[in-house]
Amino acid sequence: LLEVRGLRKTYGPRLVLDDVDLSVGAGDVVCLIGSSGSGKSTLLRCVNLLEDIDDGRILLEGREISDPLVDQREVRSRMGTVFQAYNLFPHLTVLDNCTLAPRRVHGVPRREAEARARALLEEFGLAEHAGQHPDRLSGGQQQRAALVRALCTEPSLLLLDEITAALDPELVGEVLAIVRRLAEQGTTMVLATHEMSFAREVATTVCFLHQGRILEQGPPEQILTAPREERTRQFLRRVL
Ligand code: ATP
Ligand code: MG
Repeated sequence: LLEVRGLRKTYGPRLVLDDVDLSVGAGDVVCLIGSSGSGKSTLLRCVNLLEDIDDGRILLEGREISDPLVDQREVRSRMGTVFQAYNLFPHLTVLDNCTLAPRRVHGVPRREAEARARALLEEFGLAEHAGQHPDRLSGGQQQRAALVRALCTEPSLLLLDEITAALDPELVGEVLAIVRRLAEQGTTMVLATHEMSFAREVATTVCFLHQGRILEQGPPEQILTAPREERTRQFLRRVL
């Protein structure tokens, strides 16, 4: 579904992603782990075309999206993206947040977009908040609403960057529960996370990033329990 080949990204003189290769198949849940500054967010931003890349190719469903001639807005709308915080438009209700992209980017009629959004809000326990503005919701509810909004365009791929990092610990569980449910439904996801126990539980593949390189990747049992690389072992000793 997603292929990243030989991706290189610099910020000025700094090499931030160095020859990154990543293959994500349909239904895969790929967890990116690694220290702060290792390049997890940058990788997600490059895949989402929010950053220009210096070298390499990114293919989504066989099409090269790193080609400068692609319609970036259209490509981006096929990937649902949720970041750590500030995901929702504060001046719109939850429902309007959810229907904006389907209506504006995909030309879905309002009634259809609203019906779909309401069904998803219902499914994720947010039905009664549809008419409210984001500032009336708890942080956990806001992140759940952001996930629903990302799902409303029926994306082929979800990109999630530390979506629980800004939450109070007691709210983390409800957001992770949704990600877990999406994983069970076969949603393809690439997510950066500091929650190792969660990565162990939902990931089909864990990628350990170190200084802009994917140092090793494999099934969670292997990477989180019996890593081959000393760097991975050092990292895990610090976070586990
Ligand atoms: P964290 O776990 O803290 O979120 P990360 O793995 O997501 O870290 P990135 O945010 O991808 O790390 O950052 C990778 C490197 O790129 C860091 O050294 C960072 O300082 C640098 N960097 C990120 N964004 C920019 C930018 N806009 N301009 C310059 N340097 C940047
Ligand atoms: Mg980050």
